[in-house]
Order: sequence, then structure tokens, then C-alpha cells
Amino acid sequence: MITFDGVTKRYAGGTVAVDGLDLEIPTGRITVFVGPSGCGKTTSLRMINRMVDPTGGRILLDGVDVTTIDPPTLRRGIGYVIQQAGLFPHRKVADNVATVPRLLGWDRRRARARAMELLERVGLDASLADRYPFQLSGGQQQRVGVARALAADPPVLLMDEPFSAVDPVVRASLQEELLRLQAELRKTIVFVTHDIDEAIKLGDRVAVLRVGGRLAQLDAPARLLAEPADDFVRAFLGRDRGIRRLSFVPSGDLPLRTDLTVPASAAAVSARAAAEPWLVAVDDGGRPLGWIARESPPDSGARPEPYGTFVRGRDPLRSVLDAALLSPSGHAIAVDASGRVEGVVTREALDAALARAAAGDPATGDDGGPAVGPAVGSAGAGSDGTAGAVAAGPSDGTAGGVSGGARG
Ligand code: ADP
Ligand code: MG
Repeated sequence: MITFDGVTKRYAGGTVAVDGLDLEIPTGRITVFVGPSGCGKTTSLRMINRMVDPTGGRILLDGVDVTTIDPPTLRRGIGYVIQQAGLFPHRKVADNVATVPRLLGWDRRRARARAMELLERVGLDASLADRYPFQLSGGQQQRVGVARALAADPPVLLMDEPFSAVDPVVRASLQEELLRLQAELRKTIVFVTHDIDEAIKLGDRVAVLRVGGRLAQLDAPARLLAEPADDFVRAFLGRDRGIRRLSFVPSGDLPLRTDLTVPASAAAVSARAAAEPWLVAVDDGGRPLGWIARESPPDSGARPEPYGTFVRGRDPLRSVLDAALLSPSGHAIAVDASGRVEGVVTREALDAALARAAAGDPATGDDGGPAVGPAVGSAGAGSDGTAGAVAAGPSDGTAGGVSGGARG
């Protein structure tokens, strides 16, 4: 655990970058510092590894004041990752990663082996090991930066806007990768960003700072979205807070209709279609082909229409809403992890779940107040379908569903 105890930093010029900061950073979790430029995020981070020392208060690492530990010793247990990776340009990738092990006196072969293991861990091909940093893409360089910070297996990782300089697609994959790594490694991570969406995606807890280095709110992301502490936090969270909250509402308890799924043969469809305006056609493997409308059955030559899917229990309610919005029926197709149709969440069932989420039903796992309100039904929903598919995380099923439908 890292404790900020009344920490203040006043720079020589008189700027108070951090002012009386009190907070606790739990072991083995990701804590994000987020806030506008100049609010003291970098300064706060650098006081943990003594690149900057506080002018007031104390920072305790597992109960020990960091200013009593000499910086090299302290930093041996603290990895540090910065924007644009900060790699040594004249050293090959493997040598960059092996920097700290070599400083710790490991022999060349052992350090190299460790570097190769880490490159694999962060998703880089071994063939990149003997390139120079300029021969890698920005995203690859960031991965090397993460590998280098992990080389000596430090319990603490400080990350200062590590993904801010790469394009949004690469950035999303770096974020996924960090979450995957963290599930294995369970480091104590302090992650700095000015991007509230990144903070909400990555943080177990999010500290929102305001200019002057004052803590505006410290909470789990779902709570932050549900109950912003004040107007500053509310404004910083942005407009579609209600929709984004749905990313934290589980979908596992939604009722499924299993009687709307039919093999794609004309006979099977016509046998059921009299009763239902929309059916899901599936292939021999049980995978969705698309929606079939009563008005245009297969024997009329019509092709199945586009659809959205979600994985029940894995994906949040936001993904269910997204899947429904991508389907002409207004219903969402639930698939299992291998893509086979499990059933359908009807629009009515989805509406009921949205209403429960808006009311902060404890059964949704979110005790937030009635903050979702009208944003769910109106503003956010229509304009937000695409972003929803992305933000819903690993549900490539949703995006794949669209291209796999009648358009494909
Ligand atoms: P952030 O990372 O949130 O953008 P910083 O911690 O870098 O914020 O900076 C907080 C404030 O401290 C800013 O006003 C910045 O100009 C000032 N500051 C940062 N570093 C120094 C420094 N070395 N000397 C003087 N002022 C600084
Ligand atoms: Mg900064």
C-alpha cells in the first residue's frame, strides 16, 4: 500500500502543484490519477519514486516514508513507464528491456533470457528483439516500455500517460493488454492519464484531481459515474455518463427467450413465423446468420438482416443495449463464448433491465442513485452505438455480428 499523507509540493517558482493530498493506493490494484493538464498528476506520481520530493506531508510505501529510502534502492522496486516509451534510442529492444537486470548485476545471458520472456509477455514477437526502437511502431515501443518496467519484477508500477501518444485503435489494444497482464501479475499500479474514458476502463479506483493538486473524488469507476461528488467531477466525466455506467452493470441475470431461434431453412421459418415478427436464423453450427422478418421470409429471396450479439454473463448491459440497437428487431442475440446462439433478450426484457439499472437496483451490482435517467432512452443511445461496441471490451462478437449479417 502507498499512502499520501497530507502531501504538498510547492516548486521553487512558487507554483503549488500538489496541495494537501491524502489518499491510499491499495496493493495489487490499479489506481488512476486523472484530471486536466497541470493538475499535478505527474508531480504526484514522481513523488512516489523520489524523482520529486514533497515540500510537505509524507508518502509511505508499506508504512515506510519514501524519503528515508535512497532513490536507487527505492526505484529497484518501482517500475516506471512514460509517454513515448522513453527507450534508449541507441540500444536494441532486448537491451532496453534488460537495462535494469544488467544494472542489478545479472549476467548477459540471464538478462537476455528475461528480456525475451518479457517481450513475449507483452505480446511482441521475438524477431523484434534485435531491432532499434526507431524501427518499431509507436504501439510496439510502448509495449517495450512496459516490458522494461517489468524486467526486475517490481511490485509497484508507475505509468505516466503511457498510451497518450498512440492512435485510438492501438491505444485500445494496449489497454486490453495491460488489463490482461495485470490479471496475471497483480502489481500495485499507479496510472496517470488526462483521459477519463481510459481512467474508467483501467482503474479499480479513480482519483480525480483538480488544478492545484487537490483531490476532487476517489472512487471505483461505477460509483464515480453514478455519484459525481460535485460539478467539476460531473463536467469532467462528460455527457454520456448514463450510458457509460451500463458498462458496469452485469448481464448474467437477463431472461432469455430460446424459442425465437430457427435453422435457416424456409420450412423451419414458415412454421414459426406466423407467431413472431422476427426470428434468428442459425447455421448448422448454431451460429447466427441474421434476423428474418415475417414480412420477408427466406422463400421470398430476402437475406437475413444485420444483428448484434453479446456474451451473457461476460459482457455488461451496455453491450446488450448495443446489440439491440444493431438489430432491426430491437432484440439482442445472446451467444456463448464460441459464438453459438443461446437465446434472445427481447426489447421488453432489456427495457426492464435498463429501468432497474437507472433505479440503482442492488441486484445489478451497482448501488448508484437514479442518475441514469433519460440519457439511457434518448440522447446517448442512438448516437452511441459504435462507441458502445468498442467500449464493451472484448466483445468482438458485437462488431463481427454486424459484418457477418446480411451486409456481408
Ligand atoms: P500534470 O501532470 O497533471 O499535467 P504536473 O504535475 O506536471 O501536472 O504540473 C503541475 C503544476 O506544476 C503545473 O502548473 C506545472 O507547470 C508545475 N510544474 C511542474 N513541474 C515543475 C517544475 N519542475 N518546476 C516548476 N513548476 C513545475
Ligand atoms: Mg503530466
